[in-house]
Amino acid sequence: MQKGLEVARGKTKVLYEKPGQPDVLIVQAFDNITAGDGARRNEIAGKGRIAAKTAARVFRLLKLCGLPTHYISGGEDDDDNEMLVRRCTMIPLEVVVRGVAAGSLVRRRPSIARGAIIVPRMVEFFIKDDANHDPLIDPEEIVARGIANPNELALMSEVARITFEILAHAWRRRETLLVDLKLEFGRLVGGEGRGSLVIADVIDNDSWRIWPQGREELMLDKQLYRNLQEVTPADLEQVRENYEKVAELVGTFPTQRPAMAALVADGPPGLELLEPLARVLGQFGLQSLRRVVSAHLMPNFAIQIAQQLDATFARLVYVASGPQLAALLAAATPTPVFDVTEQEGDELAMTIAKTLAVDDTIMFGRVMLVQANARSAILQADAQVNAPPPNGTVA
Ligand code: 5GP
Repeated sequence: MQKGLEVARGKTKVLYEKPGQPDVLIVQAFDNITAGDGARRNEIAGKGRIAAKTAARVFRLLKLCGLPTHYISGGEDDDDNEMLVRRCTMIPLEVVVRGVAAGSLVRRRPSIARGAIIVPRMVEFFIKDDANHDPLIDPEEIVARGIANPNELALMSEVARITFEILAHAWRRRETLLVDLKLEFGRLVGGEGRGSLVIADVIDNDSWRIWPQGREELMLDKQLYRNLQEVTPADLEQVRENYEKVAELVGTFPTQRPAMAALVADGPPGLELLEPLARVLGQFGLQSLRRVVSAHLMPNFAIQIAQQLDATFARLVYVASGPQLAALLAAATPTPVFDVTEQEGDELAMTIAKTLAVDDTIMFGRVMLVQANARSAILQADAQVNAPPPNGTVA
C-alpha cells in the first residue's frame, strides 16, 4: 500500500499517513516480538502478518457487536500485514481487564490466589511509560493529570469490560479460558464522531493471556515467550506455531451463525401482533420469516409448517401470535417457542437474542451492548432530572 509520512513507531509496529486521506492511517506490523519493555527482542519470520491477521479479526468481531473501534479494513489476507485505521490521539494508558488472577496482579497482591476467578471483572489502568515499566495509576490521578476526564474513564472501563466478555465468550466456545486482556483507547481526530473514544492500537496475541482447557501450562499467548530463560530457535518456532494457531482460531470469531425467527400468525390478524417484533429482532441482526396458520381450523397444517421449518433451519426459534398456537407448536417441535402476547416486544427480542447468543458470540456481544445502552440511558435520565437549573433561573 502506498504510504505517506511516518506518524509513530513502536516496538512491534509503525504507523503511516494514508496519502490524500488525512484522517486515515496505515498500521504495519513488524516481525518482532519483545518483552520486558523491549529488553528482550527477537525476530520471528511472518509474525507481523500473523499479528495483523489476529488484530483485524478481533476488531471485526468487536465492530460487528457494535463496539467503537478505530479499525477500517485490511490485515486479514495471508500476504497482508497492514491495516487501515481511523486516526486517533492516543490516550497514554493501558487498560487491563482481569477475569482470572495472574501476572502482575498476583505479584502485587499475594493474598489473591493465582488462578482465582475474578467477578466482577477488575479493571486496572497503567500509564504508558517504558522507562518506569508502565506503572499502575489510580483513576483519581488520571483525572488530576488531565489524561482523561471522569466520563471517559467510566466509558473506557465499561467498553473494556464488554470487550473482555465478548472475547471470553469466543474463547470459551473454543475450550479456552481468557485470563486477562490489555487494550488502549484513542480519541478520533476527524470525521464522524470526531473527539469520541474508540478502541485503538491493536488487540492481538500479545494483548491477553489465554489458557486452553483452563490450564496455564498450555498457554498459547506471549507469556510463553516472556517466561523463557533463554531464547533458542526451537523456542521461537514454538512461539510462532502458537501465534499461527491463535490467528486461525480468532479467524472463526467474526462469523455470525445464521439463525431465523419464524413468526407464526394464528390467522391473518396475528400478523399485526408480530410485526413490531420483527423490527426489534432486526436490530440484533436477526432475520425473520412470516407464516399464517390456524391452531383450531387447521392444526395439522400448522404442525406440517413447523416440521418443514425445523428441517430447513439449523438455528430456529418460533414466535406464535397467541397462547393456543404457542402450545400447539411447543408440543409439536423440539425448537424453542415463544408467545408474543406474553412479553413486551423489546423484552421478547432480548430473550430470543439471549437464546441464540449461547453459541453465537456476535449475538452475545449485541445483547451486552443493548444492556449497556439501556443502563446508560437510565443514568443520563437521572443526571438530567437532577441537573442544576441553568444560570439565571430560579429553582
Ligand atoms: P500483567 O499486568 O498481569 O503483566 O498483564 C495483564 C495483561 O495485559 C496481560 O494479558 C498482558 O499480556 C497484557 N499486557 C501487559 N503489559 C503489556 C504490554 O506492554 N503490551 C501488551 N501487548 N500487553 C500487555
